[in-house]
Amino acid sequence: MRNMFLAGSILLLGAVAFSLWGEIADRQYLQVHFLDVGQGDAILIQTPQGHDILIDGGPDEKVLEKLGKEMAPWNRDIELMVLTHGEADHISGLVGVLKAYEVKQVLWNKMEKETKVFAAFKSELEKEDAHVVEAEAGQEIRWGTDSALKVLLADKEASAFNDSSVVLLLEAPSFRVLLLGDITKAGERKLVSEGDLAVDVLKAAHHGSKTSSSRELLEAARPRIAVISVGAENLYGHPAPEVLGRFAEYGIEVLRTDMQGDISFRIPSSP
Ligand SMILES: [Zn+2]
Repeated sequence: MRNMFLAGSILLLGAVAFSLWGEIADRQYLQVHFLDVGQGDAILIQTPQGHDILIDGGPDEKVLEKLGKEMAPWNRDIELMVLTHGEADHISGLVGVLKAYEVKQVLWNKMEKETKVFAAFKSELEKEDAHVVEAEAGQEIRWGTDSALKVLLADKEASAFNDSSVVLLLEAPSFRVLLLGDITKAGERKLVSEGDLAVDVLKAAHHGSKTSSSRELLEAARPRIAVISVGAENLYGHPAPEVLGRFAEYGIEVLRTDMQGDISFRIPSSP
């Protein structure tokens, strides 16, 4: 396993001066926001040290409005952007984010797609003076002394494009979140065979599609809460009734962006 610590650069770049007490108070917490961007994913992690980590950007520019709500207006830096995979419902919003913010580092699986929006992403990425890192299982992004974002999977050999999604585990003291991108049951099976997946919160894979959220995964992860990032009345019928049934069977509380809007977790940072 190859460990890559981005901590040095994140910490160096994270020295942001805050001039409003509101944001200083916020930064005593680790915050995880599942942004309501319609049918797609966009997740913002804000560390107590002041780093903003954006995972995917949803299907359009709505993510910009959402970032504007969570980040102070003078804060134009995103310390780390992660693209889980290049499907339109994950990559599209990132084009505008690259234009509007200074993105310091980008982590993605470098799996290309022949779409207009993918070309736009690549072109903006080339213009950005960002440190670009190819995702590999085993990488860790660390902040503070006890928290990390770990890459569990970035399977470029997967037979389905969705299974190439960068899968992340957020590990903080007494709070763990599993972010599955759009992997299918095949990816989930691979994940289960590779280690401890017990978490508090699960970002359900692929918007609650019936091709994901297998029993095998739920038994390994045993989350208290499943978050489904999904658009109201989407064309795909997400989330699938059988997936909701499975969550109910395992006693997992379901939160959905189409019903609850933005879903935020705020965890006090350790002393
Ligand atoms: Zn998706």
